[in-house]
Amino acid sequence: MRIARFSHQDAIRFGIVDEGELVVLNGDPMFAGFETTGERVPIGDVALLAPVIPRSKVVCVGRNYRDHAAELGNDVPTSPMLFFKPNTAVVGPGDAIVLPRHSDFISFEGELAAVIGRIAKNVSADNALDYVFGYTIANDVTARDWQKSDGQWARAKGFDTSCPLGPAIETEFDVAGDAVITTRLNGEVRQQGPISDMIFSLAEIIEFASAAFTLLPGDVILTGTPAGVGQIVAGDVVEVDITGLGILRNTARAAG
Ligand code: ZN
Repeated sequence: MRIARFSHQDAIRFGIVDEGELVVLNGDPMFAGFETTGERVPIGDVALLAPVIPRSKVVCVGRNYRDHAAELGNDVPTSPMLFFKPNTAVVGPGDAIVLPRHSDFISFEGELAAVIGRIAKNVSADNALDYVFGYTIANDVTARDWQKSDGQWARAKGFDTSCPLGPAIETEFDVAGDAVITTRLNGEVRQQGPISDMIFSLAEIIEFASAAFTLLPGDVILTGTPAGVGQIVAGDVVEVDITGLGILRNTARAAG
């Protein structure tokens, strides 16, 4: 099942994607279940929004693909290298990536994202996937110059619009399968790698993260990016495409 969050006639609602239409739901399905209102709305009549606003945090994993660690001259970590993005970094499909002032190098990073559906603390990898509500696509937009100069990554990874999410949440996705992440910059393929190349699996990441902090329903986990990251400038269109999850498309623009 594919679930979208959207704005229509001044209201924010959730719906199940059915062909070109949305079957409107009563409330947020993560908390209210899948009761429908009986309405159907053409997708073309709505504005799709980020399918979730993280309740407390976005947990991200750095250098989780060998070829990406290598392209930036980094060693492969021996345990998951975690960092956060604040929920104010999240934007939706079609929203602008606003290039922050005083950075000279903003990069795209196409990534698989998991949306947590139940409170998770000290979860074992064996049943960690039971805590996942569904899957979507993320762009872990990064100020590469700030990442190098600051030491801590809060600014480099956490600025406003640095976490596009969407276009929808897919509940049926097989995270152990052979889905491929493809990122296109202005239509040209720049990243292409199977999610099976992840060094630490999503289940291992949830175990590792939940030993440190409680994951809440609506929190999001970004699982790392394959090789091929690169710079975006104003006017560039970035599309992250993951098999079975759709396409997340955003355009970069300069800060006003
Ligand atoms: Zn990343």
